[in-house]
Amino acid sequence: MRLSEALTGQTVIITKVIGHGSFRKRLNEMGFIKGKPVFVVKNAPLKDPVEYRVLGYNISLRRSEASMIGVVTEEEAKTFETLPPLRVEADRGGAHQKIRNTGNVITIALVGNPNCGKTSLFNLASGSKEHVGNYSGVTVDAKKASFRYKGYVINLIDLPGTYSITAYTPEEKYVRKFILEEAPDIIINVVDSSNLERNLYLTTQLIDMNKNVILALNMYDELEKSGAQLKKDFLSKMLGIPMVPTVSIHGRGLPELFDRVIDVYEGVDPFVRHIHINYGEEIEASVARLRIMLRQHRPVTDTVSSRYTALRLLEKDPEPDYLLRNYTEVENIKLVAAEEIQRLEKLLVEDTTSLITGYRYGFISGALKETFKSGKNQSSITTDHIDTFLTHKYLGIPSFLLFLFLSFYCTFELGAYPTDWINNGVHLLSVFMQSHMQEGMFRDLLVDGIINGVGSVLAFVPNILILFFFISFMEDTGYMARAAFIMDKIMHGFGLHGRSFIPMVMGFGCNVPAIMATRTLRNKKDRILTMLIIPFMSCSARLPVYLLLISAFFPSHRALFLTGLYLLGIFIAVLMAQVFNKTLFRTKESPFVMELPPYRMPTLKNTLIHMWDKAKQYLKKIGGVILLAVVIVWALGYFPTHSVVLDHFDQQITQLKTQKAILSYPVNAKQGRSIAGNGNVAKESSSQSTVNATNNLQKQNLSQVQIDEKIDQLTGKRQSERLQNSYLGQIGRFVQPVMRPLGFDWKMTVCLLAALPAKEIIVSTMGVLYQSDKDTNSLGVRIKRDVYQSGPKVGQPVFTPLVAFSFLIFVLIYFPCIGVIMSIARESGSVWWAVFVIFYTTALAWIASLAVYQIGSFLIH
Ligand code: GDP
Ligand code: MG
Repeated sequence: MRLSEALTGQTVIITKVIGHGSFRKRLNEMGFIKGKPVFVVKNAPLKDPVEYRVLGYNISLRRSEASMIGVVTEEEAKTFETLPPLRVEADRGGAHQKIRNTGNVITIALVGNPNCGKTSLFNLASGSKEHVGNYSGVTVDAKKASFRYKGYVINLIDLPGTYSITAYTPEEKYVRKFILEEAPDIIINVVDSSNLERNLYLTTQLIDMNKNVILALNMYDELEKSGAQLKKDFLSKMLGIPMVPTVSIHGRGLPELFDRVIDVYEGVDPFVRHIHINYGEEIEASVARLRIMLRQHRPVTDTVSSRYTALRLLEKDPEPDYLLRNYTEVENIKLVAAEEIQRLEKLLVEDTTSLITGYRYGFISGALKETFKSGKNQSSITTDHIDTFLTHKYLGIPSFLLFLFLSFYCTFELGAYPTDWINNGVHLLSVFMQSHMQEGMFRDLLVDGIINGVGSVLAFVPNILILFFFISFMEDTGYMARAAFIMDKIMHGFGLHGRSFIPMVMGFGCNVPAIMATRTLRNKKDRILTMLIIPFMSCSARLPVYLLLISAFFPSHRALFLTGLYLLGIFIAVLMAQVFNKTLFRTKESPFVMELPPYRMPTLKNTLIHMWDKAKQYLKKIGGVILLAVVIVWALGYFPTHSVVLDHFDQQITQLKTQKAILSYPVNAKQGRSIAGNGNVAKESSSQSTVNATNNLQKQNLSQVQIDEKIDQLTGKRQSERLQNSYLGQIGRFVQPVMRPLGFDWKMTVCLLAALPAKEIIVSTMGVLYQSDKDTNSLGVRIKRDVYQSGPKVGQPVFTPLVAFSFLIFVLIYFPCIGVIMSIARESGSVWWAVFVIFYTTALAWIASLAVYQIGSFLIH
């Protein structure tokens, strides 16, 4: 919190004063010093200046000045005591001092290239469980954690990985904005020590920004293993940046790292020195000229070094207005910058952007030449070995397919066991509830709606867990980057990105996690395009419907039809991708480098955490939206509960039940007698009368079993009747005219509507709707026997093979399910994409089924 946000009458404690030289000095002289309490005397909204009391004096500050003072409230200061300690140190049993004074809050940002181990460091230090992946683009926003270390409160922030701090990608913009606006006290620049040259580029930009930087020489284990030698103290002195070797997956070096943080924060680290990278005489001259100008128009409360701003302007920063947002005379400054750029480019015959980049790399290679002797770089040698095989021209794709097949095989084969357990458990639970709860609406809701609905979704969790395990493993080892690389060419042919492949394949399991997996696509256009076509991947919820209808209508060509439907889905997806590329996403964004990180063996723990992360999102969805949807559809199919016909059924059923009770009574009575002993006259006589009743029933030739059957039949008929008259049935009939040209009757329409929460619901709804008098249990047979009860086609079967095929096509293409729609809304960041998917998939399904049915009918006649 900033002092400007403190309210009248509040006492807050100063944690830091942000800002530059003279401004900061002035504030310090006024008494605004770290650790001192400030009382807010008067602070009305919009009132400027604000009055404060510090060290016994009343002082007024401008609001903009007060916003440069970081503070904590007294309550916040108290909660600091409850924070966990630095994890690594705790593991070693280190003792902790109590927080000495509340001014000691250090905000640290982790900055570095993708895959250099920032998140691992963040997790290990704070004990949190953010996802670690050997795959860039995983950390999308900032994660924050707080802990205590040696009497200090440390706020650690994990930022997205970037190769530089310009403003060309969303990650870069984010990181820059964070550093400039949030002004962290310390930046820990995490670098991959086995790849110093590339990683230090970012460091040069931090040097220009003149921030408090500490270098974590991470992956030091790999540097040591490769036999390379680094004179780190020498390098440290040259750059003016303290450096600490770390191995963030094991926690090595972390206490030392945070010790250095404290030293730098307290201003006692001997290595800290602000250096200037030399950009050559001419560029430096331009920088100097710009700096004079910038200093004149610079706001007192600025946090950015003018050297940095000048350099960025000369580098043609894409957001100069952001850079100069606090300055006056912005246009003049931009004019001077443009003049200088022109002068430099004419003089040096090169683009200033590449000139400056060249100087930075020159600086790095110079620094490394004196301090670094490369070894044989173990990991990249093994990486090369593995890659000659795995990304081989001919072997690459087969080995990838083999790996995929293995993942899917395990997903479905191993997953089948726990899925069975869940299904059995859900069944037991619903039977238990059925028999232990009072009959009524609440029981129906719980059993038919919630338990069965959620159960059917829950049944996919084991499959999803296993699939995610493999995917996490592929990501963490670095294989995923290769898979994208291998598939890139083929996918490009379809106008898709190589990385779209994995989400699309995942779609065969379940579209919901597949939509979430599009996160690995960096480009927004590619992400949305992939989300739009994932619904055509036949997910496992569609499989039961396919199986039911294919077995009933095309028994001799089962495998052919099943494969055909899957392929048709892929075909439509590819087709739509082309269409969208030519319509919605015409502007092509520039291609970006597909980097291939070295292979790394992930720890099992990391992979499990990652897997769980993904599964958690799926489970959350069950808890929320899917549950709600299940209940709504259930209610639409359940109400109204009373009608003349229904009541008639109820009467018949009750009658049969009493008859059954009477039939079974003598048995009970006998038992009762044997327990109660003889002499119970009342029981004797009542038992006598039931015997008579039983005889009557037996005269009607109705045994107990037959009564049960009759009850079942009636209950089934009643259910079917109820569904017909329910709101859902009414909607179905209402919509039916639209579906008639596709060959669908109202029952099919109702099934399609009921399946909005999840497509497997089609099967269970059919089970309810297609009740047959004939004694057959097979749903397929019952569907086949269904005939039109009225209308021009009366007496003809409803379902012909053609209708079944048209229906299957519709099921494949239309509205995926509520979970997918919600995921698209969330992942695309716009409800409109979700709405778009609802309409375009359904419209497409309608057109496809219409074509199939109409052309088919024409051919048959
Ligand atoms: P981030 O992208 O910077 O957040 O990097 P991550 O923390 O996600 O780590 C990327 C990969 O490097 C993961 O596979 C980690 O297990 C691995 N890794 C992280 N730190 C180290 C380290 O110090 N040594 C080694 N050998 N591997 C590491
Ligand atoms: Mg990360």
